Amino acid sequence: MTNVMKDYFLDLDAAAKDPARKVAWCTSVGPAEILRAMGFEVFFPENHGAMLGATRVCMDTIPVANANGYSPEICSYLTSDVGAYMKGITPLTKAFGIEEIPRPDVLVYNTNQCKDVMHWFEYYAEEFDCPIFGIHPPTNLPGIKQEYIDDVARQFEELITFLEPIMGTPMDPEKLKQCVALSREATNLWSEVLDMARLKPSPLTFFDGTIYMGPIVVLRGTQIAVDYYRDLLAELKDKPAAVENERKRIYWDGMPVWGRLRNLSNIFSENNACVVASTYCNSWVFPDFDPEDPLASMAKAYIKIFINRNDHFKEDYIEKMVEDFNIDGVVFMAARTCPNNSNAYYNLPRKLKNKGIPTIIIDGDLCDLRCYSDEQSTTLIEAFLETI
Ligand code: SF4
Repeated sequence: MTNVMKDYFLDLDAAAKDPARKVAWCTSVGPAEILRAMGFEVFFPENHGAMLGATRVCMDTIPVANANGYSPEICSYLTSDVGAYMKGITPLTKAFGIEEIPRPDVLVYNTNQCKDVMHWFEYYAEEFDCPIFGIHPPTNLPGIKQEYIDDVARQFEELITFLEPIMGTPMDPEKLKQCVALSREATNLWSEVLDMARLKPSPLTFFDGTIYMGPIVVLRGTQIAVDYYRDLLAELKDKPAAVENERKRIYWDGMPVWGRLRNLSNIFSENNACVVASTYCNSWVFPDFDPEDPLASMAKAYIKIFINRNDHFKEDYIEKMVEDFNIDGVVFMAARTCPNNSNAYYNLPRKLKNKGIPTIIIDGDLCDLRCYSDEQSTTLIEAFLETI
């Protein structure tokens, strides 16, 4: 894992310094396959935000963004990352000896997840005087209609037309097919990895998953991701229980608290509870990718994601996960700066509770630890585990 991520970042750094190569920045559920098929190296600012959160460097960078006009109430991936840029620092320096984030030749975002990514990428478009393209799909969908797929597939076609003069070569349809095929293979393997947690006891936890998921976010469309998940799957088949004496199985909805992964993981395992499944890790499972129909299948896959669905869909989805993974209770993490990925606000926990599924809400945040209390969360989680 360390080597896969290290090689990825070192190569990106080399590409940014090489005038013959081009770097594209992309949102985490943006059309990475199109960018890779055209020959761009792809950087994901959200992944950088997660690194800033996990290393807790964000606690020095969020206030810088706040002081420069970015509210503490908006996405803390954005404020962590923009603040780091303003301060001229990156966790890539300590991790891999890389001095700065790779400068973009083009920025591509998709508002299928939220509109914060648009504001975020627009900041950098101005900062780097760089071309930018946004995919704007229909949002908050109860169901998936053909017209939605056609709309987004058309936007992907426009994107290709926009990218061709930047790259200086036309899109090779065969390469696009190959990238979508590799993405499909990687995502299928990732799904199999997550499904290993159906075993009792489970060989992995949600907290492991947040680390294992790196390549499916940043290396979709590559053979590297396929090889990594194939190896991981083989390793997991021989792995002992992730939590000793697993007695309770928990579902996690919402974002991870990146700066408290270890701490939260310990609270559950010390109480013989295993967080076996999550909305978050499953957000990069895309069974709809089809190399024979790349643009339409990508359009379908990327508008179908959980975060882009209505409450009914979300309720049914979690209920099914509870059944499939033999879940005893659901933890909702209400992230202060990401209402888009927090499903605790519109009565979903109570609806599930009324159906006999125990639920709890933890207040916190993905990066900003000023919104999270160790004491309160520990007390709440321990009391919850005791009652179930
Ligand atoms: S979904 Fe949430 S965490 Fe992700 S970019 Fe949007 S606001 Fe930030």
